[in-house]
Amino acid sequence: MLLGMKPNAPTGGQPDIAVTAAPAAETVARLRATFNTGRTKPVAWRKQQLQALRRLLTEHEDVFAQALHTDLGKSATESHMMEIGFLVKEIDHTLRHLDRWLRPSRVWVPLSLAPAHAWTVRDPLGVVLVISPWNYPVNLALAPVIGALAAGNTVVLKPSEVAPATSAVLAHWLPRVLDPQAVAVVEGGVPETTALLEQRFDHIFYTGNGTVGRIVMTAAARHLTPVTLELGGKSPVVLEPGADLATAARRIVWGKFMNAGQTCVAPDYVLAIGEAGTEIEAHLREAIREMYGTDPARSNDYGRIINERHFDRLAGLLNDGRTVVGGDHDRDARYIAPTVLADVDPDSPVMRDEIFGPILPIVRVPDLDAAIAFITGRDKPLALYAFTASKRSKRRLTAETSSGGLAFGVPTAQLAVPGLPFGGVGESGMGRYHGSYSLDTFSHLKSVLDKPLQADTLRVTYPPYTRRKDRILRHIT
Ligand code: NAD
Repeated sequence: MLLGMKPNAPTGGQPDIAVTAAPAAETVARLRATFNTGRTKPVAWRKQQLQALRRLLTEHEDVFAQALHTDLGKSATESHMMEIGFLVKEIDHTLRHLDRWLRPSRVWVPLSLAPAHAWTVRDPLGVVLVISPWNYPVNLALAPVIGALAAGNTVVLKPSEVAPATSAVLAHWLPRVLDPQAVAVVEGGVPETTALLEQRFDHIFYTGNGTVGRIVMTAAARHLTPVTLELGGKSPVVLEPGADLATAARRIVWGKFMNAGQTCVAPDYVLAIGEAGTEIEAHLREAIREMYGTDPARSNDYGRIINERHFDRLAGLLNDGRTVVGGDHDRDARYIAPTVLADVDPDSPVMRDEIFGPILPIVRVPDLDAAIAFITGRDKPLALYAFTASKRSKRRLTAETSSGGLAFGVPTAQLAVPGLPFGGVGESGMGRYHGSYSLDTFSHLKSVLDKPLQADTLRVTYPPYTRRKDRILRHIT
């Protein structure tokens, strides 16, 4: 039984009135007052919060899975793999290493300052605002909260209103299992987020699209608040002829059509070199059939589009190439079949903005030079993937392109390596998190110098300056 949980407590639906009714300014003031007491600083408090969150996720996985199914039609297995189980691993990794990450780090002191000691310590920032999106509405809300709490902050979480069932579950449970004076959930859409953004925070962590990212950064600038922006973009998959295309196709289909393509790091399009462009078509068709059957609408493992607006946007892209497989859609069910388009014109609408849905265009290029030019000629992607048997190609892609992350042989799985930072670059975002990188994001690395007063070894640096002092100073500094 979870600490402080009522056995018959509701599991969502109604927002937690006590928490959401408090105006933004009051909520932030309350959390700041808590922070100023110093209560969130001891490592024991931080660990307690993480353990309570872990218990909530493991003992009530079904509540989260149900909400994810309601919002996005996610299967329980996918919800575990990509959201709940993912967070439990993130908590375990953080708990395992937190003491070490928080240990002060010694720094060498130059001779001119000796004797003295120097080191760095991690200071929590204060009150952190986390604004999360709808596509992985549990993972992307709680993974930053884990980092913010581990670093000793108080947190306001604003979940996405576009995934209302999940938002309600978070608003209901978090204040019940976490320290309610240190963690608040504010539900709502643009007006509520705008009201929050008027407040002064010590860090704002935003995940979502670049347009709102700019709004967040503008609001943060008024208070000189640092921001982390986890944005999106078009993540390409480079496919070279010598690679095992059957395996590549299975992995591309897995990464692309999970959550019906609504994944920030999903392969956006395939950049196929030479013959790989034609050969991959049959393999992709076969992989989709293997994973989702001949009628994916009947598969329990295939998700739905979040709402009508996104459905209409995606339906408008279905004719931007020759249909290799898929194309079926049903607005009432918000269903779009896993779709592969070939012979796609690089200037067509499907190649303009991030697709964020189950449509996979194949663009053909003659060689690796052309593939690299194609990638570097566009916005820096959140992720770049490549399937190649060539070490030289791997080296070239690593050295000659820039992206938030780079993975060979498998898409999206870079997120499952807790030691790797996650974040974008350029249009795909700024800042990074996960594991120790979350500690970096949510703390200030304070430099400390301690020089004993006993012997005043600094005399030589004080005026009035003489020739002798000048000579010594030039020698030792
Ligand atoms: P969304 O519509 O849920 O918006 C994200 C958050 O911004 C929500 O909490 C929402 O309430 C808030 N918001 C929306 N409009 C606002 C406004 N005018 N002012 C203030 N706040 C506002 O999600 P989305 O933006 O549609 O998410 C999809 C995008 O996010 C895609 O581009 C995707 O690639 C990106 N994404 C990135 C990551 C990552 O980790 N880098 C993860 C998931 C999604």
